[in-house]
Amino acid sequence: MLGLFHPTELTVRPAPQTALLLEGDGGRMTIEDGKEAHLRVVGGRVEYASGDFAFTASVVRGAGRQGGSAAFVLSVPGRIAREYRGAFEVSVRSGTLVPVVFMDLEVAVASAVAAESPPGAPLEALKAQAIVTRSYYLAARRHVNFGFCDTTHCQFLREPPAADSPALVAAASTRGLVLTYRGEIIPALFSASCGGRTRSLREAGMAPQDYPYYSVICEYCLRHAPRWKSVLDLENNVDLLNGSPTEAQRLRIDRGLGWSTIPGNNYELEVAGGALIIQGSGQGHGIGLCQLGAAGMAAQGKSFQEILDYYYLNTSLDGVGEPLVGLRPTR
Ligand SMILES: [Zn+2]
Ligand SMILES: [Zn+2]
Repeated sequence: MLGLFHPTELTVRPAPQTALLLEGDGGRMTIEDGKEAHLRVVGGRVEYASGDFAFTASVVRGAGRQGGSAAFVLSVPGRIAREYRGAFEVSVRSGTLVPVVFMDLEVAVASAVAAESPPGAPLEALKAQAIVTRSYYLAARRHVNFGFCDTTHCQFLREPPAADSPALVAAASTRGLVLTYRGEIIPALFSASCGGRTRSLREAGMAPQDYPYYSVICEYCLRHAPRWKSVLDLENNVDLLNGSPTEAQRLRIDRGLGWSTIPGNNYELEVAGGALIIQGSGQGHGIGLCQLGAAGMAAQGKSFQEILDYYYLNTSLDGVGEPLVGLRPTR
């Protein structure tokens, strides 16, 4: 959202019955309950204004009254408003405002589990997802100037879930647990549905990482994964006939023809006339945890440990402390 609109203006207000402290090299102001601050680009700096006060700074920092975590609503006027918990910084890059929210790791994990999980997923599957999400946030390196964006490029994330929501229960009951391989946390990958068999990185044509991933049969997907069919012209897509399907091929075709053209990497090809007929099942790259398969295993009484052992062969579960992650809201 915010990044996609390249915002030059933002509004921020504290959650009800709280206050927000804004400061930068221009000065400091407190935004009381019911008030808001307007941020905009002025001469390559961030102007922050509220009531009778207006300052500019290279970086504006926002936090609670005591400098700690705050609950606040960040919005692009007339477009979207979203609530966050944490501290934030806003700077200017290429003429647009770049907000980065610093969230407690566990708040980010619960928020991403809520946004990424299919509705009605059983609790043990959500716990497995929480450990996958936490491991990803701690080990993946996707951006240079901040930790993660909140789109599916990294992990989709919306506002923190309610205190009694299954996503929050799943995060809290696995607090600090991560997946490790040979003593290192792995940036655990997952997809919606593998279609019947997960894939190794090598098989999907992806860059090697410390953890190679392994192909495992996914019984639940074999019986329940949604099937799909597409027809492409043979001439422009003849490379699909060479070797096994790669994630790069899928993304190239989907970028050009739409994201449902090749939903996943589990498919068969058939040439008929001048056409290439693709029939497959599942959705996503099919590497690591399969959300549909995990939900199926949990419904059969498997624990989150059993689910993770199955999809991340040769890994262990370990505990970590309580770091912060920096998230850049983009939608
Ligand atoms: Zn990203
Ligand atoms: Zn599966």
